[in-house]
Amino acid sequence: MKILVIEDEKKVANFLQKGLKEEQYVVDVAYDGLEGEHLAKTNDYDLILLDIMLPGKDGIEILKTLRQCQVNIPVIMLTAKEMVEDKIKGFNAGCDDYISKPFSFEELLVRIRAVLRRGGGALSNVITFADLTLDLISHKVIRAGREIELTAKEYTLLEYLVRNPNRVLTRTMIAEHVWDYNYDSFTNVIDVYINYLRNKVDRGFDTKLIHTVRGVGYVLKEEQKK
Ligand code: CA
Repeated sequence: MKILVIEDEKKVANFLQKGLKEEQYVVDVAYDGLEGEHLAKTNDYDLILLDIMLPGKDGIEILKTLRQCQVNIPVIMLTAKEMVEDKIKGFNAGCDDYISKPFSFEELLVRIRAVLRRGGGALSNVITFADLTLDLISHKVIRAGREIELTAKEYTLLEYLVRNPNRVLTRTMIAEHVWDYNYDSFTNVIDVYINYLRNKVDRGFDTKLIHTVRGVGYVLKEEQKK
């Protein structure tokens, strides 16, 4: 899951970036409204945390522009004031939720999960595919009743696959959502991690879930071993 933070207070922005990375989100930060709007229009984010008072262009105007441009990425507004007027403006401009500063990081995480869940159509903190279950809070992964131990990066990769089942995911898409640096075609890091996941998730099962689409990328689907 890739999150864009648009926040000019460096202290708050850095705190958010650090905390979200610890939760295995991929995070980009813009300290200026115009830069933030540009990033939001040109990247495929899963969520935007948007401050209201920003240099360049304020958060409400950015949100209006994004929605006018059919950019429908979920947005949580970060508002400094407990002002009803700001909240109404935010919701009218198309935000999905807001949180008032100062806020607890735990509360923000709950709101982020709730907004992502609505977007993904999931009704709980658990997502499933076939006999595979992922707990989005504890990061516990179970296949056919057996717990699978994954590293943080393996978990992030698997969560991205499970959130996009039966859809071919290119290496570029995977790189953008799971790694926070631009994919370098000379590295085979994605293939290496897919192999780690296959060994842990598919090995020993007749039905394989992780499949290679030659020359393109990978797809999560149910397919019997031939
Ligand atoms: Ca601000």
